[in-house]
Amino acid sequence: MPNMSLKKNPMPSQEPDVRNNNFEEVALGYTEEMALDEAARCLNCKNHPCVSGCPVGINIPGFIQKIASGDFEGAYGIISEDSALPAICGRVCPQESQCEKNCVRGIKGEPVGIGRLERFAADTHMKSGAAPAERPASNGHRIAVIGSGPSGLTCAGDLARKGYEVTIFEALHTPGGVLVYGIPEFRLPKAIVRREIEGLKALGVKIETNMIIGKTLSVDELLGDMGFEAVFIGSGAGLPQFMHIPGENLRGVLSANEFLTRINLMGAFKEGSATPVMHAAKTIVVGGGNVAMDAARCAKRLGADVTVVYRRSEAELPARKEEVEHAKEEGIVFSLLCNPVEILAGEGTKQVCGARCIRMELGEPDASGRRRPVEIPGSEFVIDADCVIMALGTSPNPLIKSTTEGLEVSRRGGIVADEDGRSSKARVYAGGDAVTGSATVILAMGAGKKAAAAIDRDIMGAE
Ligand code: FAD
Ligand code: SF4
Ligand code: SF4
Repeated sequence: MPNMSLKKNPMPSQEPDVRNNNFEEVALGYTEEMALDEAARCLNCKNHPCVSGCPVGINIPGFIQKIASGDFEGAYGIISEDSALPAICGRVCPQESQCEKNCVRGIKGEPVGIGRLERFAADTHMKSGAAPAERPASNGHRIAVIGSGPSGLTCAGDLARKGYEVTIFEALHTPGGVLVYGIPEFRLPKAIVRREIEGLKALGVKIETNMIIGKTLSVDELLGDMGFEAVFIGSGAGLPQFMHIPGENLRGVLSANEFLTRINLMGAFKEGSATPVMHAAKTIVVGGGNVAMDAARCAKRLGADVTVVYRRSEAELPARKEEVEHAKEEGIVFSLLCNPVEILAGEGTKQVCGARCIRMELGEPDASGRRRPVEIPGSEFVIDADCVIMALGTSPNPLIKSTTEGLEVSRRGGIVADEDGRSSKARVYAGGDAVTGSATVILAMGAGKKAAAAIDRDIMGAE
């Protein structure tokens, strides 16, 4: 008998006024009892609409039925057929706009907690201490992967499992991409990312850190003297955007990327960190996406009163609903329909003391279909702050393009690649944010997977 409760089993979480003082994981994960109860809500629908909402097509009813029957390892096995990073996707996937959006249980009530169950299966597998997959015999072909975010890790893992000798070249000193330098510990513990990376190393994947392709080595050198047969570019979209308003170069104005990297990658929240970050009393975060929520929640944990300033209304906030709810519970204030026009300095100083903002109203829809925010004349006001964090979106870094002959990029700076990740340059493939601009972990993973399959087809076909 299915469990016909209209509500999902709630996720056990740290209390808001406790968690806004620490960096430990907010969501604590289902117990076995909760997972069994939630799995029993799935109707095992014949046409399984949930699956078409998942960018990598996980057999969702299949793995949920395994959980319902108590075969948790079997559930993990089914998920792993399509997803290389289930413990990560179960935590950060925007499920509400993907798999869960299509779940029939969502028509009259809440959808099945697919992401929560995926996380449960992955965490239970990890706790079981199962041995990592064994390294397959080499097929003698060498592939270079640029970047160690979800697209690069997935591409590398899929190729290594087929026997390719894969080397990842990563610009930073730690692999993981946004999973380690962007998404904070309280949403995605870094130990989980490290474990996934150790699994890849066990498959024989080599990771060379502190290697900036386009500076230390070029794509053409990888394909030439270095002897790689193909290169996958998964270099992400890490170039921050700014508003170009007066005062943006003052002390106390940061890009969200720098702020989050200092905290997540360099541990700036820890006492005595070698790469400290300013502990502001009042912080403004400009933007309304996941990055803005992460920056705001980190600033709160460092002790600041935080205001998120966003030019549209709550309905248009691009961040995941759950993240907005969490931010509100933690005491973050939202100043909506409002936009900064100038960052202000304290008298005789170059230090931020606030932002002059203007109220907005929503006008006609723009090209994206969203109603365009329009300034209301004479509505300016000041928000006091000693730190302003810009979380306005990012674009692909032009370094690789500018140092690689024959690599076509779009007007927005993304590498042009076909459905399977083939770029305009022979033997060069690309995927993830480097192609699409800032998107999601699961889409980057899907792109890495497709490119790995195309590389395999092209090399084996030629052979
Ligand atoms: P990245 O993860 O950006 O990895 C690219 C890697 O390439 C980096 O390690 C970089 O250092 C390296 N690199 C760059 N240039 C070079 C070079 N020249 N040489 C060598 N290495 C290079 N998505 C979700 O699905 N859910 C979320 O909740 C979510 N939250 C987010 C929060 C933040 C703060 C940010 C910034 C993004 C978030 N995203 C989220 C988006 C998601 O993380 C990205 O879409 C995803 O990580 C893209 O993966 P990728 O492999 O394309 O690139
Ligand atoms: Fe849903 Fe993401 Fe899991 Fe796919 S990978 S089933 S979209 S949570
Ligand atoms: Fe189960 Fe919902 Fe998918 Fe139906 S749509 S199989 S109820 S998860």
